[in-house]
Amino acid sequence: MSESNPKARIGFVGLGIMGQSMAAHLLAAGHTLRVYNRSADKARALVEQGAIWCDTPGTVAAGSDVVITMVGYPSDVEQVWLGADGILPHAHKALLIDMTTSSPELAQRLAREAAQRGCRALDAPVSGGDIGAREARLSIMVGGDAAAFAEALPILQRMGKTIVHTGGPGSGQHTKMCNQLVIASTIMGVCEGLAYARTAGLDLDVVLQCISGGAAGSFQLNVMGPKIVKGDHAPGFMIEHFLKDLSIALAEAGRMKLALPGAEQARKLYAQLVDEGHARDGTQALALLYGAAR
Ligand code: NAP
Repeated sequence: MSESNPKARIGFVGLGIMGQSMAAHLLAAGHTLRVYNRSADKARALVEQGAIWCDTPGTVAAGSDVVITMVGYPSDVEQVWLGADGILPHAHKALLIDMTTSSPELAQRLAREAAQRGCRALDAPVSGGDIGAREARLSIMVGGDAAAFAEALPILQRMGKTIVHTGGPGSGQHTKMCNQLVIASTIMGVCEGLAYARTAGLDLDVVLQCISGGAAGSFQLNVMGPKIVKGDHAPGFMIEHFLKDLSIALAEAGRMKLALPGAEQARKLYAQLVDEGHARDGTQALALLYGAAR
């Protein structure tokens, strides 16, 4: 790992399930860390460890060389980057990294606006879940200028293990959409397999033990499978965010005239779960619709 310059003052906006753990790794690496989150209480643990609370994303940016955002939706990214109290109006020649899963189009627009204001912008969404964030083992897919990627790499290495420059602005978000499409059809397969096992009267723990190490093995089977068997629906990764991702991927695919029947089906099922009150459950709660969960 290359050493991140401990003198780099880092700002972090968005301290939810993912952001809190990611920001904590940067603080532990010795960086001065300025933080902001919509609900201030989520910053408390970091502030107790030495992070500096700021009242707006703009104040975070004004005191930082590098600003990282990890909010929920593209609309949140627009607000924290472009709002009057936002990052871009207050950043000075900073490196700005959006790690939210957001739209490729917005990432391209932010890269243009950042350049016009003398800043560098990267889109750097992640995969690996809350566990990956806690253990600093995220996969990070980074779109943007190669020199900005080189500058960001030592900082990203504090949060992730597989860090890849995927191409120009927006390519990180496009790569993340590929990731979400693979997950969408995989989690449906996991639910079908476990529904079949339950209906056939098999012991689900034994089934998981048998098939997890074989050709069906995957993060979705090996991590979500046991949660499904236990009836544990806590997030991890929230259904409302997965639905957001599927909508972005299907909109991009529509623009490219590409049919994605697996993703269409997953979007329909996850929309049904949101209608039934499961928006903030973990994605493994899909099993409820298959009769695979307790
Ligand atoms: P989360 O727990 O909802 O965290 C998002 C945080 O951003 C929340 O604390 C929220 O504040 C804050 N926020 C939203 N809008 C804001 C604004 N305008 N100003 C300031 N703060 C704002 O979600 P998460 O699970 O950490 O996910 C974050 C992003 O990573 C999402 O795009 C998600 O799709 C993606 N992702 C998640 C996972 C996962 O496994 N969880 C994995 C890969 C990627 P409040 O506390 O007030 O709501």
